[in-house]
Amino acid sequence: MSENGESPHPIVIAGAGIGGLTAALALRKQGHEIVLMDKVGELSEVGAGLQLSPNACTVLEGLGVLDALEPYAYAPDRLRIWSGVSGDQISHVSLGSFIKKRHGNPFWVVHRADLQRVLLEQVQATPGITVRLGTEVLDLVSTPYDSLVCNFRNADGVGKLNCKALIGADGVWSKTRQMIPSHENAQFSGQVAYRATLPIDQVPSRWAGDSGLWLHRNSHLVHYPIRGGRELNIVALVEEPWSDQTWSAKADKETVLHVFKDWPAEIRNLLGLPSNWLKWALCSVDASGPWSHGHLTLLGDAAHAMLPYMAQGAAMAIEDAAILARHLPSDVDNIPAALRAFERQRKPRASQIQGIARRNAQIFHFSGAPAFARDTVLRFSKPDRLAARFDDIYGWSPEL
Ligand SMILES: Cc1cc2nc3c(=O)[nH]c(=O)nc-3n(C[C@H](O)[C@H](O)[C@H](O)COP(=O)(O)OP(=O)(O)OC[C@H]3O[C@@H](n4cnc5c(N)ncnc54)[C@H](O)[C@@H]3O)c2cc1C
Repeated sequence: MSENGESPHPIVIAGAGIGGLTAALALRKQGHEIVLMDKVGELSEVGAGLQLSPNACTVLEGLGVLDALEPYAYAPDRLRIWSGVSGDQISHVSLGSFIKKRHGNPFWVVHRADLQRVLLEQVQATPGITVRLGTEVLDLVSTPYDSLVCNFRNADGVGKLNCKALIGADGVWSKTRQMIPSHENAQFSGQVAYRATLPIDQVPSRWAGDSGLWLHRNSHLVHYPIRGGRELNIVALVEEPWSDQTWSAKADKETVLHVFKDWPAEIRNLLGLPSNWLKWALCSVDASGPWSHGHLTLLGDAAHAMLPYMAQGAAMAIEDAAILARHLPSDVDNIPAALRAFERQRKPRASQIQGIARRNAQIFHFSGAPAFARDTVLRFSKPDRLAARFDDIYGWSPEL
């Protein structure tokens, strides 16, 4: 151990988001010393709802986090699908007990801040993991003596840390991705999500218990309860050529109401309730680009940020963390080879789900005859069958 109590050769993780925190727990379980750095000084309550499907919950259960998260989670019984044109319900997808029984773990919706806090508490309670907030990872260099140095910047200036590998879990605008030759850059999608939360007692009771998906031409809307059912999360998605790299740009209610002016009155009433609207420009990073270079690999949004239309962004980061740890036992002797094997294993799944999300972006926004055909198929599909279509995604576990 060094003077500050850290191992001289830890694995450094850049980013204490959902992927980085999960990777810290999973890699520590394998016996590695971990230093987890995040450039923000405080992990504040930015963001809104996230969906945690059973594949993600299976990993969190294995890391002992699921019980601590339960009071903040909500398990909707079903996803109701509505027409944003007529206001009629088209169909519903079974969730709740159906999914729990089918896959052994729940389908939860949570506030991102609750998930991040619960993961951070577990990380801070785990000896062998050091968290350094206010510390931005700058690069990774090999020294002439064959050791690796991670350069970082914090309030004291620029510093160095010897390490045995760097994991880039630093999100869609990843700096670590820039260190990989021929890397892909993040691309704006031309779609924007307006997001807000509001106390559940302000919400008409018929929407308060389930998840909802409303479909309209060139736009759609998703809502679900979070924070143990105490708040409703609303995400209104539209095609709009606005670009911004932050998660917390303010949006005003009048703009949201203008964008949704053709929607049913009851939805417009709902959109008029919150006063805390935020705007988020949706981006993606092509998962087929390179993720690894020497002792560096990427995971989560840094490797394959995806449109939220399959609600798998957080789940894929969590899955990545579990699989990365399986490739890095404590006695691993060829780290670059292990990181390449991790990339080879994960890339097909991340690419597949990124593709499904991209297709959903088109299907959700159909108009005219394609929309009629989509709604007819949905109307005649049984709720359990609609849920079973996602068995490949939700039934995943690190052991498979
Ligand atoms: C503030 C914020 C709010 C979000 N809100 C939502 C939401 O409401 N709904 C939703 O579906 N998704 C949201 N997301 C995205 C969602 O968390 C991710 O899509 C998913 O969980 C995958 O997470 P990740 O760990 O790969 O990346 P992220 O969750 O984006 O985490 C990346 C972390 O890396 C840190 N970082 C960046 N660069 C560096 C660096 N050079 N050195 C050290 N640290 C660095 C960032 O500060 C951040 O904490 C949000 C992300 C962020 C950062």
